Amino acid sequence: MTNEEVEAVSFEVLTKYVKRGGAYKAFQEIMTAMQIKFREVATAEDSFLGALTAGNNGTRYIMINKNIDNEGRKNFTIAHELGHHFLQHDLHSNNLFCTEDAISENKYLKDPIEREANYFATCLLMPAETVKSAFLACLGNSHKAKIKDFLHVKNDYTFGIWKPICSNLTKRYGVSEAALRFRLQGLQLAKFDF
Ligand SMILES: [Zn+2]
Repeated sequence: MTNEEVEAVSFEVLTKYVKRGGAYKAFQEIMTAMQIKFREVATAEDSFLGALTAGNNGTRYIMINKNIDNEGRKNFTIAHELGHHFLQHDLHSNNLFCTEDAISENKYLKDPIEREANYFATCLLMPAETVKSAFLACLGNSHKAKIKDFLHVKNDYTFGIWKPICSNLTKRYGVSEAALRFRLQGLQLAKFDF
């Protein structure tokens, strides 16, 4: 699937389930509607982040590692697993286990299935138009920012512009800084030299 096709699927989900605020707030509602059960599992396997699995009776489960200590990472993992579901990825032998390497918030992967699920997560958590207008509003309100439609973070001064915007938007969308940076760069709204 192309990025555009993946984004279109995420947009359908957003339109149906997310009335206002970050999509992460609607996770439970989405899973309930899809009859997906959610489990946080304790595992010694650190590289395991999340999975979409089907039980014998066909019930689907999203399982995520209980030890993920970053809220943004946790939300991204759930959104990624929802991606496998909505993009109708084949559950080989009823399981799709996703490791740390497969769930990437800030780079494109070779494996098409994992790349699609990551892009779905990015689009679901940070819809293009929404994040764009929120980012431009922040930039517009920043007294420090001279350029109001693009932010190039390259030194202490521009980092000072970025910091409050980052803190505002990561909270609003329930994402990590890495995921936000990647989204803004993808939308050609910002560039980060470090
Ligand atoms: Zn995956």
